[in-house]
This record gives sequence, structure tokens and C-alpha cells, in this order.
Amino acid sequence: MTFRLPPPNWPIEDLKCEGHYFYESVITELRGSRVEVEGRGEMLMFSSYSYLDLLQHPRIDAAAIEAIRLFGTGTHGVRLLAGTTLYHKRLEARIAAFKQTEAAMVLSNGFLTNATVIDALVGRGDYVISDKLNHASIVDGCQQSGARFLRFDHNDIGRLDEFLQTLPSDSNKLVIADAVFSMDGDIFNLPAAVEVCRRRGAFLMIDEAHSLGVIGKTGRGIEQHFAMPSDSVDVKMGTLSKAIPCIGGYIAGRAALIEVLKHRSRGYIYSASLPVGLVAAAEAAFDVLEEETWRVERLHDNDAFMKSELHKVGLSTHRSETAVIPIMCGTNKIALDMAKLCQEKGLFIQAITAPVVPEGEARLRCIVTAAHSREELRFAASVIATAARELGVVP
Ligand code: PMP
Repeated sequence: MTFRLPPPNWPIEDLKCEGHYFYESVITELRGSRVEVEGRGEMLMFSSYSYLDLLQHPRIDAAAIEAIRLFGTGTHGVRLLAGTTLYHKRLEARIAAFKQTEAAMVLSNGFLTNATVIDALVGRGDYVISDKLNHASIVDGCQQSGARFLRFDHNDIGRLDEFLQTLPSDSNKLVIADAVFSMDGDIFNLPAAVEVCRRRGAFLMIDEAHSLGVIGKTGRGIEQHFAMPSDSVDVKMGTLSKAIPCIGGYIAGRAALIEVLKHRSRGYIYSASLPVGLVAAAEAAFDVLEEETWRVERLHDNDAFMKSELHKVGLSTHRSETAVIPIMCGTNKIALDMAKLCQEKGLFIQAITAPVVPEGEARLRCIVTAAHSREELRFAASVIATAARELGVVP
């Protein structure tokens, strides 16, 4: 054997020796905001993407079970051949109605959706222009596409405008950004971006993984947040794995766009369709999201309350405007020590370190959800504050 394995992306042996290896903790039971973790007992969850606490919602679970009873657990294969059921069609219509577009398509997961759809939209001779803090799946999609890949400084729409100005006016230009940035919790400046894209003739794609169900008064996402018309974004991408408690990715947009993507996206054409249980669950979850709007209100209240508790003791939450709350620590070592101290006190919370975030901006990433009670948030904030004092992050 001459093959040499490349090194992992993290110094995992060092992390294990220092007691800083927090990955793949095994959850054995789930009870709302609380989880049972193998070897550690009950912990309070602050790393979950289940923003609206819809995991284990009886109506969503019942929809999944009923679909499995009728169709079993898998499908007959890819969507274009034998993998489309009534459930897939219904979910796509549901998403299109929710996002107020003509059509929608669902794919096996969010990562694949970005990777394959960008590749289907642009290629050699075209341009793809991406925010520097966009998700890895967007970066991969841009790189795979063969289009010229340009990146503007985070949320710097002036820079985006400058880029677009220099590109040939008759070229295909696709601009892409996250709606809510997954490490910083801030929101893309959609109004300015839409103005620039329209003026410069660029197509705009927005990833709503962390904004669907999270921002906007009733959780409809970034257009609702900015009170913009529903046709502001050309390619509306989202995942079904966060506020919607399933798996899957979607694209919503004009019927002509969806038709082309269904017949050009390799991840749609060559990968098996989503299992009906999850498709039915996702459809039910959209119903619940629309009906139980108190969940969105509670998420917003919890986010504001948690930030105020953290700010009271002098902690910085960087530029977060949403339920993704980075608690800035500085060095990787301090962030990892913070995570360790918090975990020892029963918080399920993770450190995010360089190079995932810039050097010196290592942080605890605290995610609040609609499942948290005020007492739980108060307790978590006090644990974090004590750890921060002990490590000199705050006086
Ligand atoms: N886009 C963003 C912004 C994400 O944060 C993620 C996952 N964390 C994805 C896409 C991929 O989605 P999924 O996990 O559903 O594959």
C-alpha cells in the first residue's frame, strides 16, 4: 500500500488529550430543550437547528408514520424515473405556496442542492459572485460550476456592485448569499443587493437554511423580514433540516427555472428521491409553521432575552441579529476552554475555532430555540458568564 491518508482538518489527537474533543457526542434521548447524552447525563441543548422546536411534534410524526404505512421507507429511485410520489408533488406545491413562487423542487439534502443547482445554472464563460462568509456547500457549487468565481467582502454590497460593474454586460452573472450567516447570525442586506443585481442584470440566489421559520414576523424568511415583495429573489434555496425537522433541500422560483433545474441538476437527476415519510413530515411541518406562529414569536423573544443576559455581563455577541448567537472569546484555546467549562455544567454548546472562523474570532456558538424556557436561558447565560470570568474573557 502506497496510499497515504491526508491529515484530518483538525488536530484531533491534541484536542482529545486536552479534553477539548466535543464532536459526535451521542444523544440517547430527546425531550424538548433537554437531551440525554451518553456518559454525561442530561444536558441543555444550545447547539440545535430545531429553531421552532418542531422535532417530535405529534402532528408531524403522525404524518410521517402514515406515509410510511402507505409507501414504506424508501422510493423506487430517482425523481425523473420512478421516485416521484403524490407526496413529493404535494410538498413542492406547499413550498411554492409558502415562498409565493410559481414552482418548487425538492432534493435529497441542502448541501447537495447548493452544490448541484449552482453547477446547473452557470458554467464556463459565466460569473458567480459569492459573499465571503457563504456556506461551504455554496463554495463547492461555485467551484464545481466552472464559472469564474468572485467573492465580495461579507455583506459589502458596494464591493459587489464594483465587481458587477467590471463584468461584461452581456454575460451571465449569478450572485449568491446566505440569508442568515450560519457562524455570525447576521442577515444579508437583501434590499441593497436586489437593487444592485437588478441594475447590473445579475440573477440572485439566496440560501434560507437559517432564515426559514426564523426571520420575518411569521417566519417566512428574508423577504418578509425586509417587507420586500415575494419576487425579490430569483432562486430561493432552503433546507428542510432545521426549522423544518426533516431532511432535504429545495429551490423555489419561476416555473421555467424549476423546469430547467429538474432537467440539468445532476444531484436531482442522478440521486434517489427523498423517502415519503420525510416528505410527508416536511409538508405537515409547513402547516404547523403557518398555524403555530407563536413559535416564531417565542424564538424572537428568546433570542432577544438571551442576548440581553449576555450583554449585561459584558459579553460580545458580534453582529448576530438572529437565534445563532456567537459569544466572542478570542483565541481558539479560550473558546475551547469556555466550551469545556460550559459542558461540565450541563450545557450542550460548541466552540467554533479558526480556521472555520478568522484567527482571533474563536467563539462559543450558542443557538437558542423556541424550546427554551426563560429559566433555562437565565441558567445558561449565568454558566457562560461564570466561565467567561474564570477565563478572563470579561472582568
Ligand atoms: N446552507 C447553509 C447556510 C447551511 O448552514 C447548511 C447546513 N448547515 C446547508 C446549506 C446544508 O443543508 P443540509 O444540512 O440540510 O444539507
